[in-house]
Amino acid sequence: MHFQWYPGHMTKARRMMQENIKLIDLVIELVDARIPLSSRNPDIDELGRQKSRLILLNKADLAENKWNDAWIEYFKDKGYLAVKVNSKKGGGIKNIQSVIQEACKEKIERDRKRGILNRPVRAMVVGIPNVGKSTFINTLAGKACAKTGNKPGVTKGKQWIRLNKGVELLDTPGILWPKFEDQQVGMKLAFIGSIKDEILNTEELAAEFLKLMQQHYPGIIAGKYNIEETGDVYEVLNRIAESRHCIVRGNELDVEKAAALLMDDFRSGRLGELTLEYPDRI
Ligand code: GDP
Repeated sequence: MHFQWYPGHMTKARRMMQENIKLIDLVIELVDARIPLSSRNPDIDELGRQKSRLILLNKADLAENKWNDAWIEYFKDKGYLAVKVNSKKGGGIKNIQSVIQEACKEKIERDRKRGILNRPVRAMVVGIPNVGKSTFINTLAGKACAKTGNKPGVTKGKQWIRLNKGVELLDTPGILWPKFEDQQVGMKLAFIGSIKDEILNTEELAAEFLKLMQQHYPGIIAGKYNIEETGDVYEVLNRIAESRHCIVRGNELDVEKAAALLMDDFRSGRLGELTLEYPDRI
């Protein structure tokens, strides 16, 4: 499979991020709970050097909870503060403000020692496209009060959302580029829908997805589509087409439609809570 990328967008996004990151104390990095490593970009460690760090395992509702907890432990072992959230429904959002304070406690302590009191912590949300950055900001902002005005010295139009008197959040997230030069990573990003389907062959993608399901979640596909799920994955795809009446030109099986349907069922959580990468197998 071949993945395209767009250096133009990437350069601009990176430049914006470098500018904004100067203004903040805390980097809130969102990753997708189904693929917590593949949905990260290692550049953030360089960009976020000297900043307080917090990792949010977002879309936790779509992943298996035992693996969510295992990933939280994994990140904690690496020295990050990490929590799971569901930005869409607001799960885990209530505690975020105290988690932010916790993530910044060294900075707050440093300020206090220098006699600086009541300087709010400033935070920015970052992550690759589609991990839920806007959803998270909106959900959090919805719970908080109004935006603060422009601040002197800050690019016009930049808005800070005051979460409470101790924390301000930049209203525009920082966009990181996914690292899809790695085929395995690219594949997983395509599974969750972070790479546009048009640049991929849907059948090939669905076939790869079925292989992964056979390996890690036997029984799910059989149960969902009421079919035999073992054997050649293209055969399995045919069976899904049959079972779901995906037909073209009168009587031919529309395998492409079945592939799209399968991926859509996965992405919207209709196959259940599924995790596609695991901390003890990396
Ligand atoms: P961004 O590109 O990182 O800003 O991502 P968006 O905020 O636009 O979210 C991408 C998609 O993921 C949208 O369809 C959201 O509704 C969905 N989404 C975001 N957070 C969650 C979550 O925690 N759970 C679920 N199930 N969907 C989410």
